[in-house]
Amino acid sequence: MLLQDTLTRSQKQLSPIDGKTFRFYCCGPTVYGPAHIGNFRTFVMQDVFRRALETGGTRTLHVRNLTDVDDKTIRDSQAAGKSLKAFTDQWRDKFHRDCEALACLPPHIEPSAVEHIPQQIAMIETLIEKGNAYTSEDGSVYFKISSFPGYGKLSHLDERELDLGKTQNERANSDEYEKDSISDFVLWKARRDEDGENFWESPWGQGRPGWHLECSAMIAEYLGDTFDMHSGGVDLVFPHHDNEIAQSQCACGGDFAAHWFHIAHLLVDGGKMSKSIGNMYTLADLKEKGFTPMEVRYVLIGAHYRKPLNFTLDSLSGAKEALAKLAKAAAKLADNIGSEMSLPSADFGPFQAAWDSLNDDLNTPGALGGIFTGLREATKLSGKDAAAALAGLNRILKALGITLPEILEDTAEIPADIEKIAETRWAARSGKDWATSDKLRDELQELGWSVKDGKDGYKLTKI
Ligand code: AMP
Ligand code: ZN
Repeated sequence: MLLQDTLTRSQKQLSPIDGKTFRFYCCGPTVYGPAHIGNFRTFVMQDVFRRALETGGTRTLHVRNLTDVDDKTIRDSQAAGKSLKAFTDQWRDKFHRDCEALACLPPHIEPSAVEHIPQQIAMIETLIEKGNAYTSEDGSVYFKISSFPGYGKLSHLDERELDLGKTQNERANSDEYEKDSISDFVLWKARRDEDGENFWESPWGQGRPGWHLECSAMIAEYLGDTFDMHSGGVDLVFPHHDNEIAQSQCACGGDFAAHWFHIAHLLVDGGKMSKSIGNMYTLADLKEKGFTPMEVRYVLIGAHYRKPLNFTLDSLSGAKEALAKLAKAAAKLADNIGSEMSLPSADFGPFQAAWDSLNDDLNTPGALGGIFTGLREATKLSGKDAAAALAGLNRILKALGITLPEILEDTAEIPADIEKIAETRWAARSGKDWATSDKLRDELQELGWSVKDGKDGYKLTKI
């Protein structure tokens, strides 16, 4: 696969450094509220990336962290009157449910900052020993950016006009680090009153790690000093990822990430969707408006990841229509097969162009277009050819993480004997013969069909 690399600003062919497994890290969510669909643009694109590699036969190791201690999680857990753990566990679980609804594969490893305090302390000790960090009067520890000549290479700091109001001798203590200034940044934050019970013992006194450090420590633990790729939304390029590079390369040596994959923002009315601005949509908000998570996923992959995507409710209605059209064409293709079996295939058939798009800098809109073009050809086929085309379609849909449940379910053929049992059951139920009705429901269940009753009839669904 060819993919744009933020550091070199060029497209590079991806292949695992160790020749076996493509090992990559994604900065995960801060678990202090529901993730918004802007966050999910990033997570869904990372999921498509992983699915595409796996579909192409590359094994992956996907590590994504949970930020469960920072200024925001502490502030909001206290406002909610909960312990930090109870508070962040609740939002972690919600995040997992949303990811599942959006068909995002769970990462292979999901470490959390709180679970890796000793590793973070050890990294700070190394940085102090090597002269890259220093302690301040209050017991905080800062990274000294002048000690790392390559500082800012990812965001091309040397080419940018920055607010140099903060000089390299000044420091930033907040996790919400100003985007356009450079300063030494905090590695260990001395305990403050507002932290409450959220502090740990360290060689520098009580406190907690700064936000940038956790990713470096967890990467060292699970991926070592050199790994295949690092990813996040574009807002993380600077300072977060530049700071990670500084911490990791100074502490561990190595090349750190061989490739940088950044996803452009989801916008609302031309501005960034963000919780602090209050213009965010969650999956729950959109469900309430009658949209499914799959429709949300379709919108999110409908634009190229390097271009900002302006979110509108109209685009969700468009996704609903496109998915229905797709499902109808897929059902027609399935119909054309007749008695042939659809076998898993390593081929994409009429969907080769869609697959090629996906491998060309993860061109998801190109891939979706290629699916519709492919379907126009595929639906003209029959028998074995239709079966092969359907296998190709299933492969490309899987690579994009698209499922078409409702319509395929509606068009599933119901065998005559199943229909007969269901009708007998409906008659028994209408006559209030509950015992027979229940017995026949169990019988259907055993035969692999579930039955749902409505006011005027029933609906059979293949289990
Ligand atoms: P956070 O929970 O704020 O740490 O963000 C989790 C991920 O979502 C990070 O990779 C962010 O860069 C990304 N992100 C945040 N806002 C947006 C947005 N509006 N569009 C796309 N990605 C975003
Ligand atoms: Zn990170």
